Amino acid sequence: MSQTLSSADVGHYIQGATTAGVSTRRQPVYNPATGEVSRQVLLGSVADVDAAVAAAQAAFPAWADMPPIRRGRVMFKFLELVNQHKDTLARMITLEHGKVFTDAQGEVSRGIDIIEFACGIPQLLKGDYTEQVSTGIDNWTMRQPLGVVAGITPFNFPVMVPMWMFPVAIAAGNTFVLKPSPTDPSASLFMAELLKQAGLPDGVFNVVQGDKEAVDALLVHPDVKAVSFVGSTPIANYIYETGAHHGKRVQALGGAKNHMVVMPDADIDQVVDALIGAGYGSAGERCMAISVAVLVGDVADKVIPKLLERAKSLKVLDGMNLAAEMGPIVTGAAHARISGYIEAGVQEGAQLLLDGRGFDGKTAGPGCDQGFWLGGTLFDHVTPEMKIYKEEIFGPVLSCVRVPDFATAVQLINDHEFGNGVSCFTRDGNVAREFSRRIQVGMVGINVPIPVPMAWHGFGGWKKSLFGDMHAYGEEGVRFYTKQKSVMQRWPESIGKGAEFVMPTAK
Ligand code: NAD
Repeated sequence: MSQTLSSADVGHYIQGATTAGVSTRRQPVYNPATGEVSRQVLLGSVADVDAAVAAAQAAFPAWADMPPIRRGRVMFKFLELVNQHKDTLARMITLEHGKVFTDAQGEVSRGIDIIEFACGIPQLLKGDYTEQVSTGIDNWTMRQPLGVVAGITPFNFPVMVPMWMFPVAIAAGNTFVLKPSPTDPSASLFMAELLKQAGLPDGVFNVVQGDKEAVDALLVHPDVKAVSFVGSTPIANYIYETGAHHGKRVQALGGAKNHMVVMPDADIDQVVDALIGAGYGSAGERCMAISVAVLVGDVADKVIPKLLERAKSLKVLDGMNLAAEMGPIVTGAAHARISGYIEAGVQEGAQLLLDGRGFDGKTAGPGCDQGFWLGGTLFDHVTPEMKIYKEEIFGPVLSCVRVPDFATAVQLINDHEFGNGVSCFTRDGNVAREFSRRIQVGMVGINVPIPVPMAWHGFGGWKKSLFGDMHAYGEEGVRFYTKQKSVMQRWPESIGKGAEFVMPTAK
C-alpha cells in the first residue's frame, strides 16, 4: 500500500505523479555547505520498480507509434521550459551537491545541448534505402525503439547526466525509468514535472529513487530492455555484467583518472589557469576533472610555483556565493575518503605542497562550520606506484608527476587502467597530432583541459572508463536506444515462378 509523502520527502514519480510508493526506507539528503539534513529521499523497493516499469511498459505502444516529429515537438517544449527554469535547477544542484552556482548553471546548459540535439529526432531516425537490390526488389533499414529503458546516474551531475540519456531515449520512442543518485535527488522530480508540462504523456518518464535494491530490480526486470549507467568503475562493471546476463543492452560509463600533459613549449599562464579550473572546479568531483599534471622536462619548475600560489588563493565558499570558485565536498563520507587519500600520499612519500585538510569551512559562509569542507590540495613528485596516482580520488587533489620526455608521458597514460579524458598543452602541431593519435583514451583535448564532447559527438571513455560498445548521446546514443530493422520487398508483378533452394543473389 502506498504511504503518504511529506513535503520534506523526495518521492518517486510514476505515471505522471509524485508518489511515496511502497518502501519505507529513507536516506537523509544534506546541504553539504552546512552539513544540515534538508530532506529525506525514499529508497525504492522491488515493488516500486515494478510499478514504474509497468507504467512505462503501458505507455510504450502509443508513444512509440507517435510520429517522431510530434515527439520532437514535445522535446522543443521541454527545451523552452528548461531554459525558463534553468536557475531553479541550478539552485537545486548547488543546495544538494555543493558545486558553485555558476558551475551548476553550466551543468544545466550542457544538458540543454542534448535536448536541442534530441529535437532533431526525425532526421536522426531517418533510415536508408536501396532501390533494386535485385530485379524488382528494394531493401531499406529503419530504426525502432527498444521499449522500456532505464538510466542509473551518479551524484556529480544530477541534471546533465540524466539528460545525456532520457531526451534521446524518449525522442527515439522509448519510455524511461530514471534511478537518480540518492545524494542529490530533488532535480529529478523537477525535470519530471517539466516534461509533463511539455506535454509528455504520463508513464513515458518515471523516476524511482533508491539505492542498490532499486538498481538490482531494474537489472533483472524482464521488461527493461536497456540500461544506461554512469558512475564508478566497480559498479559500472557490475551493471554491465548483470544487465547483459539478463539479456539487456548495456552502456556503463565508469570512473576516471585524467592526465594533463604539459610540454616545455606550453604557455605557462594558460597551463596554470587550466590546471586550477580543471583540477579544483566542482571540488574535483567531475569524471573529466584533471587529477594528474604530467610535467615534461624542465617545465615543472616553471609551473609548480605559480600553481601553488594560485591554489592557495582559491576562493572556497558556499556555492550560492557568486564569488565562489570551489564549494564543499558532497558528503561526510566523501570527505573522509578524500582525506584518507591525502594521508596515503604523505605516507607513500609524495611531497604535499598544499594540504586542503586545514580548511574547516568557518570562512566559507554563515553556518558553514559544520559542512563538508576541504581546501585545494597539491602534491609534487607523485610516482606511478602510489595509490594516489593509481586510484580515482574524486576530490580537489591534484598530483604532479615529473617525466623526462613526451614518449614517457604517453606511455604513462597508456599504462593507466582508466581512459576517460586526457589533455596536452603544447604549441607544437606535430606533438599535438602525435598525442591525439597515440593516446589510449576516449576523449582528448589539445590545449583544452576538459574536452567533454558536444551533444552531437557522443561521450565515452576507453578501458575501465566504459563498459559496453556505444558512447552516451550523439548518434551513438540514437543507435543505443534503437534497433535496426531491415525490410526487403517485392510486389507480386515481379515475382518469378518456382521455389528457390539456393541462397538468393542479385539477379
Ligand atoms: P556510484 O557508482 O557510487 O553511484 C552511481 C549510481 O549507482 C547511483 O545511482 C547509485 O545509487 C548506484 N549504486 C551505487 N552503489 C551501487 C551498488 N552497489 N549496486 C547497484 N547500484 C549502486 O558513483 P557516484 O559516487 O554517484 O559518482 C561518482 C563516480 O561516477 C565517479 O567514479 C565518477 O568518475 C563517475 N562518473 C563517471 C562519468 C563518466 O562519464 N564516465 C560521469 C560522471 C561520473
